[in-house]
Amino acid sequence: MQNIEIYEIGYCKHPEFMVLRGGSFKSVKFPAMVASIEHKKGNLLFDTGYSIHFFDATKNFPEKFYALTTPVTLDKPLCEILTKKIDYIFISHFHADHIGGLKDFPNAHIFCSKEAYELSQSKKLSRFSKTKQGILPTLLPEDFEQRVTFIEDLKEIDLPSSLYPFIKGYSILDDIYIIELPGHAHGQYGMLVDNYFFISDAIWNIRAITENAKPNILTSLIMKDMKEYYLTIEKLQILHKNNSEIEIIPTHCTKTLDKYIKKSNDV
Ligand SMILES: [Zn+2]
Repeated sequence: MQNIEIYEIGYCKHPEFMVLRGGSFKSVKFPAMVASIEHKKGNLLFDTGYSIHFFDATKNFPEKFYALTTPVTLDKPLCEILTKKIDYIFISHFHADHIGGLKDFPNAHIFCSKEAYELSQSKKLSRFSKTKQGILPTLLPEDFEQRVTFIEDLKEIDLPSSLYPFIKGYSILDDIYIIELPGHAHGQYGMLVDNYFFISDAIWNIRAITENAKPNILTSLIMKDMKEYYLTIEKLQILHKNNSEIEIIPTHCTKTLDKYIKKSNDV
């Protein structure tokens, strides 16, 4: 069992009906979760949350649209909270609330999707189009390519049968599974440590699994592929039904985070 700590590093607000179909117009908090794992091979982060770099990256148009449509509040960036040295960072996907703090960890080795990285660097996409997809390339450190291992370059492995219907995946640091969760964004991967499955934005609210509660159809505007998104939710529902030992942790679910942040020391 590895020591896992969970933090909320900033949040933005959205009307509830966007996050949950049938929800109210009331603005609800959309926290950005980060997990730090003390692994025998070094300290590892799952995503970075927001950082002050987000505000720099969204000062001018078109990037400013991002900050205007999702107003962000940040008390303290992760680098001011953590006291330990971070050796590795796993990035689930390239949305700004997941990669925002990368520049604050200049010595960490990064694991992420090649597809997501290449999209962020694509010359064929305009700044506006990248902003629309939630990608702010200036959040990436300049020496990113020297410090990265792309998931797609790792050897694909068979996952344990206890993770059915997830069959194929990858592993990092010997015993951490990396599993593709398509639909929400290009190259989105989840990370399984012990029995904790960090699923990033595969769902926004745990009720999508426990009650089949889906987000508003309008969110299809920001999803990469709605059909893939629903298929991934179905797989997570099956996993949850077959294996209740696995704790499924979405990045932006207040209910889930309340449960883990309170007892983060003994997770
Ligand atoms: Zn996202």
